[in-house]
Amino acid sequence: MSLVELTGATATYRRSGISFVALRDVTLAIEAGERVGIVGGSGSGKTTMARLMLGLLRPSAGDVSFQGRSIVGLRERQRGWLRASASMVMQDPNSSLNPRMRLADIIAEPLRSPVLRRRGDVPAATPAVLDAAALGVGLEPDLLRRFPHQLSGGQRQRAAIARALVSDPALLVADEPVSALDVSVRAQVLNLLADEVRERALTLVLVSHDLAVVRHLCQRIVVVCAGEVVEEGPVDVVLRAPRHEYTRALIDATLSL
Ligand code: ADP
Ligand code: MG
Repeated sequence: MSLVELTGATATYRRSGISFVALRDVTLAIEAGERVGIVGGSGSGKTTMARLMLGLLRPSAGDVSFQGRSIVGLRERQRGWLRASASMVMQDPNSSLNPRMRLADIIAEPLRSPVLRRRGDVPAATPAVLDAAALGVGLEPDLLRRFPHQLSGGQRQRAAIARALVSDPALLVADEPVSALDVSVRAQVLNLLADEVRERALTLVLVSHDLAVVRHLCQRIVVVCAGEVVEEGPVDVVLRAPRHEYTRALIDATLSL
């Protein structure tokens, strides 16, 4: 059983009454413990694919399953296990963290969810647990009293990573996790992600338009172009011998600088 499976998944958005197919007939299985990079140009459908995997978007056709169970049309009450088992780190920590909450509460929030509490193996959100969560992502526990706007961009993204990991998920989806950060802190945040993924043997889906980042963090690469998967395979194979024109163009644009 794969951890995540998309089967003929199609995603359609409605824009002023007109439907627009953002992702077409995608079939893809991600195994537990795998690290998969999803690459493609802006608007190619990467974030849409991530949202399908997390059950944040319902496919207009096809199926999406997590841990062998279809997540299409889950009722709100059944979504808890999915939220506890699959976390996301978004591109922009400015908009993904609640500006009115202190860091301690932002990181503790998943631990306080009733569904997660029922899972039993989840620690209570005690000060010691939160301090450890902060230290685990390289944040001094003093910072837990601050609000997001009182942190740097890199610190905010570290907090977003702490929040995503605090529920001990099986899957981490990171959608362009460093694109909004200063170039000077990108490598640190990527290294933190890489360390956490390895230590926890997490399944990682990393959305990126940067092939160098994918080469560094992932084993497998999925290339998306205009809503379709055009190529897929082990990172070293795809980057050494790309079969699709679009992959070649991406390599020329981002790896040969
Ligand atoms: P990427 O992450 O690769 O940049 P997205 O998955 O965000 O691409 O978007 C794929 C396509 O779907 C784009 O053309 C985008 O404009 C469109 N799109 C994304 N989200 C929405 C939405 N909520 N409503 C309408 N169109 C959308
Ligand atoms: Mg995107």
